[in-house]
This record gives sequence, structure tokens and C-alpha cells, in this order.
Amino acid sequence: MRAVHRFTVRAHLPDQLQALGTLATNLRWTWHPPTQDLFAAVDPPVWSAVGGDPLRLLAEVPAGRLSELARDEDFLARTRAVDDDLRRYLTVPRWYQQRLDEGAVLPTSIAYFSMEFGLTEALPNYSGGLGVLAGDHLKAASDLGVPMIGVGLLYRSGYFRQALSAEGWQVEHYPVLDPRGLPLEMLTDHSGEPVLVHVAMPAGRTLRARIWKAQVGRVPLLLLDSDLPDNDDDLRSTTDRLYGGDAEHRIRQEILAGIGGMRAVRAYCALTGHPQPEVFHTNEGHAGFLGLERIRELLEDPGLQFEEAVAAVRAGTVFTTHTPVPAGIDRFPVDLVSHYFGDGAREALLPGVPTQRVLALGAEENPGMFNMAHMGLRLAQRANGVSELHGKVIRKMFRNLWPGFGVEEIPIRSVTNGVHGPTWSARELGKLLGESEMDSGAGLRGMEPVSDSLLWELRCSLRQRLIDEVRRRLREAWLQRGASDLELGWCDSVFDPDVLTIGFARRVPTYKRATLMLRDTDRLRDLLLDPERPVQIVVAGKSHPADEGGKAMIQRIVKFADQADVRHRIVFLPDYDMSLARYLVSGCDVWLSNPVRPLEACGTSGMKAALNGGLNLSVRDGWWDELFDGHYGWAIPNADGVTDPNRRDDLEATALYELISEHVAPLFYERNTDGVPGKWMSRVRHTLATLGPRVQSSRMVREYVDNHYAPAARSVRAVANDGYRGAKEIADYRARLQAAWTWVRIRDTEMTVETGGTPLLGGQVTVRASVDLAGLDPSDVDVEVVVGRVDDSDELHDFVAESMRPAGEGRYEASVTLPHAGPAGYTVRVLPKHPLLSGYAELGKVVLAG
Ligand SMILES: *Cc1c(COP(=O)(O)O)cnc(C)c1O
Repeated sequence: MRAVHRFTVRAHLPDQLQALGTLATNLRWTWHPPTQDLFAAVDPPVWSAVGGDPLRLLAEVPAGRLSELARDEDFLARTRAVDDDLRRYLTVPRWYQQRLDEGAVLPTSIAYFSMEFGLTEALPNYSGGLGVLAGDHLKAASDLGVPMIGVGLLYRSGYFRQALSAEGWQVEHYPVLDPRGLPLEMLTDHSGEPVLVHVAMPAGRTLRARIWKAQVGRVPLLLLDSDLPDNDDDLRSTTDRLYGGDAEHRIRQEILAGIGGMRAVRAYCALTGHPQPEVFHTNEGHAGFLGLERIRELLEDPGLQFEEAVAAVRAGTVFTTHTPVPAGIDRFPVDLVSHYFGDGAREALLPGVPTQRVLALGAEENPGMFNMAHMGLRLAQRANGVSELHGKVIRKMFRNLWPGFGVEEIPIRSVTNGVHGPTWSARELGKLLGESEMDSGAGLRGMEPVSDSLLWELRCSLRQRLIDEVRRRLREAWLQRGASDLELGWCDSVFDPDVLTIGFARRVPTYKRATLMLRDTDRLRDLLLDPERPVQIVVAGKSHPADEGGKAMIQRIVKFADQADVRHRIVFLPDYDMSLARYLVSGCDVWLSNPVRPLEACGTSGMKAALNGGLNLSVRDGWWDELFDGHYGWAIPNADGVTDPNRRDDLEATALYELISEHVAPLFYERNTDGVPGKWMSRVRHTLATLGPRVQSSRMVREYVDNHYAPAARSVRAVANDGYRGAKEIADYRARLQAAWTWVRIRDTEMTVETGGTPLLGGQVTVRASVDLAGLDPSDVDVEVVVGRVDDSDELHDFVAESMRPAGEGRYEASVTLPHAGPAGYTVRVLPKHPLLSGYAELGKVVLAG
């Protein structure tokens, strides 16, 4: 008999054990080993059977055991201690409060929107790196005391679970999750009724969603869920799957996340007294509609004009983009957007917001498409990419939004991603290095007294733990593929605890090149089976269900790994998730990453490996490009400039094989008399001590606070104070600029050289220009002279810009020091200037001489 519906009954805890309920629902347990130990002690076999999930443990542990614990004084004392620790963690002032005490101007709170959040495998609401990054962001915010509210969707089936067919083809499963069995609490009002968010849909329909709250340490995470019987069937399935549907499904999800998400934040703050956010951070463009909802709010109260509302919204919005390619950008057909935001529909969804204005926010080169990244950039005063290289790449990619500016002037910065230390570094490592459980990474400074042999012993035990897990999962995978236990004896002897272990795990889009290692299977076989210095490789990763190419890549790896002569040295493990990731990043000696440069915006799994003393072997892309120093690991040379992808892959694969056989393996197998690989360990030490602290999400969140959230809070107050006087001023200024700008002209320019007619490096020249401001006030603009190198087509590079002094009657002049020898050039430009602009390039307006 099959149940028609499944649900979860939560355990009834004896009074003395009530604290366990709190400890199980606050996700701080996911990064707090003493809390995990407490739950493990409840019933060790059940704990390991449920994969270390406290709520499932409490649901499955026999009632008799709970009554026994309720009388166990030692256990009760331990529970109290852990509970007290959580209370302290939730209340004592932390870094953010310290900053406030020092007088820093910081936001009252920040709302962080993301389509996915990866906090723990026990809450499978993520597909990969973007979600895990968002989860790590919230955890670090909690550790630092940053007053943040996370906002996203709760998917009934999360992302899919991956299995393999007998032929090695990816098979997807979508188990239905019951929110009541997850570490979530439904948001209810004072009378106990669920708080619902309503979002108007076309044809007079309404999409309703309830709100689930996950508590991430100090940070609440609100997840909207449309699975309500009151919704029409098609609307009800809005939150069925992550990245699972067509464009219509996706736009509904994004409207719910952005507009519904804003309404959920308002409701949550009104209900709980949590301060309303001043700053709104959208992690990728998906939730960008939140800006429209905030515009609607401001039109309604205090009754701002559209442009004033845009100015106010921009001031408080931070937009982070994660893709380096136009194809990765979230776009919708304009017709579809019109369907939801057009006349009729829009009056109910966003009363007062003109349709044409909405469409203009997402305009791009193709008039038929609405571009979520362009809207993100137009509605955020501050935007960033996720590594230095990525910042560089996207300044180029989006430069058309700032015509007339040098690429390096495009106002998109970068904040390099980080990973949450206490989540991703093995607790044994922290213990060995004498860290406090609270502050992972800090103890690494104290690693000097720890001998190489102790550290090596630990690395070996982490590798052993991974190998045990590899064997367990491999057997399970084969059983699923239809093998019988009888023929799987060999699974118990795959991998060797003494062999150099390489890990490769990530989603399987083409650019990550999961099959690069198979370029020359003979070479690979030689590496795996080398009699003196063998390597063993563990591979994992999910392919998007619609990506047949990705599935074919997985199949190639599986087929190779199935071969009897190599199957003890290479495995593919299905269903990559955060649990498998923890085993991999802590147990592998080397973490391999070989994307096509520069398509990996940042990449974070290698950071997780680094936190555990794993050495990275990677193409210089994403974070590795900026942090690689020659000693942490190895850079796979990339065939820059080779345009034929086949030849590039050949060259880079050959370089990879050579690196492994000539450098990586020899270093690993070179042992001191005590059996310790001394040179290898010096790299491990160097990685732990100096790379570890730089790849932490606490560093990333501090950067967001200092460089984005704090300036945004200052901007918000500057535009909002005094009845939104600043917003009105800036809107008024933009209107004046708009009216005059096409007529602003630089009439003529001339240069005189001070040093007797010949320009000399370091010498001075004076530039004069005459400018027609078309009625603008001189204080509205900055007139600058720009001097730099010129190339053959007279493009300026490496330039410096300096303000020119008004010399009356539209004349301007400036003396500049020549910065370079060789072919040089200058020009003059007029730029908008207003104290409420974040920078001169913000409006994308410039008038150039000539
Ligand atoms: C960290 C992580 C990722 C992201 O890894 P990349 O190196 O950025 O591709 C993906 N999936 C899981 C489960 C992770 O833990």
C-alpha cells in the first residue's frame, strides 16, 4: 500500500529536554561541533543512521531512550551548557556591534535575497555553488553579528537527487520534502494564523505563499512556499523545483522571490520588531523585482515621483553578479514581462508603477529581451563581481551601459567570495591547531608548535575517512545500478590510504571541463597505475537535468571508472551534496579545477580544500588567479590565445598530466626518514597559515559591510532624510542633466608645454578648454583633462584624469604632470557631479571633446 500523502510527526520531548528542540531548529548546530556531539550522544547508532540530522534523530529515537535521558543528570547538565552557549552566541555583542560602538555608520539591517540557500544537506534547498555561497554568507553574518535577514523560496522538491543507471547515465529523483520535517518554523501572526504573502497575477488571479523561517544562528531566513490548496494548481507549483521549469515558471518564481520576498520581510519585521532593512543585497539578478516593489512602496508613501523613488531605491541596493558570460545572464522575452507587468496585470501587482518604466529598467541590445542583470545594475548604486578577475571581465561585458568611459572606470567592483570556516574545515584540524570552536581560522596562527608529523598524521586520517566513505558510497551506487552485493566485494578495497588522492567535484556545465582528465586516457591510466607514484581520483557532480551534454560527460567518466583495471583508482560518486563535499574537501590531498579561463567567476570548492590543508591544482581562474602565489599549490598553464577549443583542451590536458607526474606526485612521495613528506607539508602549512584566513566568508562579509553596506546606509540616509529631500534633489538633478546633456559641448581645446616646447616625462603641460554647458550650472559638472598612452587608433590607456579650474566665460584650464614616456594623448571630458552620486561614472554620462 502506498500512502497518498506523507507528513512528519515531530517528537514530543520531555520537559527536561525541551532545549534539544531549540538546538535542533537553530541551524547553528551545522557549524558547532559541541552541539553535534550532544545530539550524537542521544543515540549514536540512530545519529549515524539519520546522517547527523538532529530533527530526524529526535523523530526516530525511541521514546524510552528520551525518558532515560530526561533522568540522566550528566546529560541534562551537558544540554544546559550547550543551550547556554547558544544563548550567549545569540546575544553577546560581536564584530558589528563593536564597529557601531566605534562610531561607524552601519545599516539597521540588511535583507539578503537569493534563489537558493545551501546551509546543510538536512535542508536541501540549493543546487550548487551559488546556494552554498549564500548559506555561507548568512552564517558568517551571524558570526559577525551583522543584522541580516535572508530571503528566498522553499522548493517542494529542492534540487534533484542524482543516481546512475547501469549504463552510467544520470537519473534524477525529486523526493517531496515536508517542511514540517525540516528545521523550519511557519511564520504565524499573534493569533497563530499563518502569515500569507499575496502577489497579483494576470487575469485577476492571486498567488499566495506562506513563509517558513529557518534560524541561522542570529540570522532569520524567510523562505516563501506557494504549495497551498487555495492557489490555482499552476500557481501552486510555483515553488515546486529549483531551476526546473520554463521561462513562465521562472518569472513567477522571480516575481514571488522579489516582490513576495519584500512583502515577507515587511511582515516579518512588523510582527517581530526586527528593524526594517535599510540595505537590500541581491545575490545574482533573480530577485531583482524587489526593487520594483520598493518603488511601489515609495510611490504610495511618502508619495514620491517615479524618478525620486528610483533614486531612493538605488541608494540602498547592492547587486552581485556571478556570471562572466552574456549567455549566463537571466533574461525574459519582453512579451512575458509585459504579460505580468503590463496594463491590467500591473495595476494589481504594482499599482502606480508605469509599465514602460518597468520595461526600460530591463532594456538591453535586443529589444525583444528583458535583462535581469541590466535591471540589477540600473536599480543598484553598488554592484560587484565575485573575484578580481571576474570584476575585470564583467566591467568589459557591461561596458555598453557606460559608453564613453574607460573599462577600468566602469563602476562595478569585486568582492572575492569566501567559505564559512567552521562549516568547511574539519573539526580535528581546529582541535590540533588549538582553535576555539567559535572562531575557526584564528588558531592557525598558533600552528608553529604543531610538528609536521602530527599534521601529516591528521591529513592521513582525513584521507582514510574519505576512503571509507568512498567505499560505502560506491557500493551503494552499484546496488542502485542493479548490481548484487555478492559481486561487490571489490568495493571494499578501492582506493589506498597511502596513495596521493585528487578530488574533482562540482556541477557539470561544459566550461568546468569535467572530462579534461580523460583527454588522453592512456596518459591518465599511466598516472593512476604508476607503480612508484600512483594517484587516485574521486569525481562527483550533478548535471542540470536539461543538459544532455553534461550527462554525456558524466557517463564518460563513469564508463572509464567502471573498467576493471582502473576501478580501484578512480571513482565517480553520485549525488554530490554538502555532506559529500565535506568528506571530499577535507580528505583529498589535491583539489583539481580546470575551467576554461575566465569562465569560472570565482569557484569556492578549492577554498574549502585550502581550509583543510588541501593543495589546489587549478587553472588560474576565479579566486585562484588572484591568490595563487606559487607555493600554495600549482597553476595549470592555460593556453591563452589559442582559439580552437580542441587544441586548447589538448594543450591544457597535456600540461595537467605533466604537472601531476613531474611535480605533484614526486613532491607527495618524497619522504623524510620518518615517512613524512616534508616539502609537501611545508606547502600544507603555508596554505593553512596564510591562504586559510583569506578564503573565509567572514573576510568576505566584512568587505561587504565596509565597502558596500556601510556606504549604502550612508547613501540611504542622505536620500531619505528630511522627507526624502535628497531623493528629490537627485531626481531633479538627473532631469536637468537629461534635458541639457545632448547640447553640452566642448568647443575647443589646446595644450601648451611648459618645458620649452618638448613634452618630457614628469614635465608639466597646461590644457585649456572652452565648454558650452547648455544652461547647466558649473557646479553641476566636473570638467576633466585626461592624459595617458595612446595606441595606434588613438585610444587612451593607463590614463590619469584631473579636474580643470573654471577660468570664466566657459573656459577651463589645468596643469598636469605627464605620467608616461612614449606616444601620449589627451582629451577633455565633462562629467556629472553631485554629492549624492557614488562616483562620477554612476550615471553613465560623459561628453568627450572632439
Ligand atoms: C562548494 C560547493 C559547490 C561550489 O563549488 P565550485 O568550486 O564553486 O564549483 C557546489 N556544490 C557543493 C555541494 C558545494 O559544497
